[in-house]
Amino acid sequence: MELFRQLADMGHERVLFCSNPEVGLQAIIAVHSTVLGPGLGGVRMWPYASWDEALIDVLRLSRSMTYKAAAAGINLGGGKAVILADPKHDKSEALFRSFGQYVDSLGGLYITAEDVGTDTEDMELILSETAWVTGVSPAHGGGGDPSPVTAYGVLQGMKAAAQRQWGEAALAGRTVAVQGLGNVGSHLASYLRQEGAKVFGSDIDPERVARARAEHGVEPVGLDEILEVECDVLAPCALGAVLNEETIPKLRCAVVAGGANNQLADEARDGRALHERGILYAPDFVINAGGLMNVYNELTGYNRERAMRMTRGIYLNLMRVFEIAGAEGVPTHEAAERVAEERIAKIKALRPQHWARTMRERRARS
Ligand code: NAD
Repeated sequence: MELFRQLADMGHERVLFCSNPEVGLQAIIAVHSTVLGPGLGGVRMWPYASWDEALIDVLRLSRSMTYKAAAAGINLGGGKAVILADPKHDKSEALFRSFGQYVDSLGGLYITAEDVGTDTEDMELILSETAWVTGVSPAHGGGGDPSPVTAYGVLQGMKAAAQRQWGEAALAGRTVAVQGLGNVGSHLASYLRQEGAKVFGSDIDPERVARARAEHGVEPVGLDEILEVECDVLAPCALGAVLNEETIPKLRCAVVAGGANNQLADEARDGRALHERGILYAPDFVINAGGLMNVYNELTGYNRERAMRMTRGIYLNLMRVFEIAGAEGVPTHEAAERVAEERIAKIKALRPQHWARTMRERRARS
């Protein structure tokens, strides 16, 4: 009964447990909301210690996708999936095709994509069994790896934060500390250098640090120092929960604007702590929506220019959040949640039909 209470509290519409022992598949698909459109969110492959841990993760992640799509102004709901397995050892064609069959059984309520532990090649195996998959390569009508677009969106959001904090959007001459030089972080470093910013960077993988230094002129900083380095902007681009009771008092930046998901360990407490320190926080689910916008474009026929144009809109999306937060004296993450919730409530009252039609057309094409 505890599980049902949790689903009711968080507002999930549907949770599907998937088990196919013959191919080693244990997965959970969570559809949080389909008010604005089908629940789109990546499938994460991770060696979770327990079912409970995996369930909590998928419930939280799917709910954040609802907020991300709503604040981005796109016609998608929130969904996410987790496969309980080790991406280094357990991947197989049969496993992904079996997962694809479960996705297909939801008839378009959930659309999958890549996430931590999965990639474009895995999406193409899923595509063998269902049309409800995005993040496939251009050869299959997709946009490929979404991380360069995510990084481009983070750059736009950082410019909005600069405009708000210093009265000018230009990043030339600013110092930016990037935590995590992986797919998003390294593309962001490249964009920042093109803008004339000075970039500090750290990564647990020394090869990535060396590459970022050689290719983008990133100045390496120790793993323990990156959050405390004196800079204009801190850009978390690694894991979640980096902004917490321990780290926030030590930050020496004026803006936090990065691509990582779930940056605040405790949203209410840590969002307020940043606000009280006068650090402008660009809410993660607003600033990192570029990848979602990119895969969203695949649903209606992928066009790179249109995806980039939509991603440039992150600047205005964040400006609106900053204005509401400023006018009402609330932390920015609270303002962003309000923007998302208001849109969902208004559209729910309309009983939308458009996305269902778009999805039927997509299915007919596939
Ligand atoms: P990635 O795995 O390519 O990069 C993450 C990097 O962080 C890795 O190089 C890893 O070694 C490094 N790292 C891990 N812990 C670290 C630590 N303590 N200090 C410094 N570096 C550390 O992943 P990615 O695709 O670049 O995603 C980065 C973040 O952005 C994740 O939180 C992801 O959920 C989020 N995100 C990604 C996308 C996308 O399009 N890829 C979209 C939205 C959000």
